[in-house]
Amino acid sequence: MFDCGEGTQRQMMRWGVSFALEDIFFTHMHADHLLGVVGLIRTMALQGRTEPLRLWGPRGSARVLRRAESLGFERASFPVEVLELEPGQRVERKDFAIAGFGVDHRGSASLGYALVESERKGRFNPEKARELGIPEGPLWGRIHRGIAVTLDDGRVIDPSELVGHKRPGRAIVVTGDTRPCAATIEAARHADLLIHEATFGDEEAARAVETGHSTAREAAEVAREAGVRRLLLTHFSARYARDAMDLEREARSVFPETVCGKDGMEIEVAFED
Ligand SMILES: [Zn+2]
Ligand SMILES: [Zn+2]
Repeated sequence: MFDCGEGTQRQMMRWGVSFALEDIFFTHMHADHLLGVVGLIRTMALQGRTEPLRLWGPRGSARVLRRAESLGFERASFPVEVLELEPGQRVERKDFAIAGFGVDHRGSASLGYALVESERKGRFNPEKARELGIPEGPLWGRIHRGIAVTLDDGRVIDPSELVGHKRPGRAIVVTGDTRPCAATIEAARHADLLIHEATFGDEEAARAVETGHSTAREAAEVAREAGVRRLLLTHFSARYARDAMDLEREARSVFPETVCGKDGMEIEVAFED
């Protein structure tokens, strides 16, 4: 989970999102990004959770997060670990990693996060395998995993004969609150999905600068510069929250593959190949 605003657990219940998460990554310590964590931890405790939960945040966030954690429940039914991340630091998980990058938000140590899937195996060529007389079955699997095999007739099959180049995994990048910045462009280079804040529209471009936020158009410029596949806008100020069509239109004039996030929205991120 990335950030945990007020009402997060209610929304999770409403949309059937599992509470079995292991990590929450906070972009920064403004209240609109963390108020929900107290109630979420309390609910997890009431549900009898025993698995540890890790709360990650930028430099200087641990004090605030520990406080939020202790408000969440009086009796520790499960361990809550609070950790700080530096820009560029990676958290490795099975089949993917999450890397923080430093964004530009009112001088505070704020992080965006890039969730990057591990490389996938190359494509296996079944026609060629049949041509070479390799029997379908476990041998195919071993070759696909990159292991050379020796056939009954003594021939040695090198996996490179049958398996293509490794294919990149998918990448999803979340900015949190930020001005448009080079670090986002770099982290989001060719990403499948960029989730960028768009607090304001064109007419409030000056306010975006003053308050350390972005306009929808600026988010779209970042998306175009980074060459991402799709852009999802979020974090709209109150005047756009009800109807974000203006923001979508302004962003699409720069980057057509843009949508505005809404409650309960699901987006499928398919492999490119
Ligand atoms: Zn903020
Ligand atoms: Zn915010």
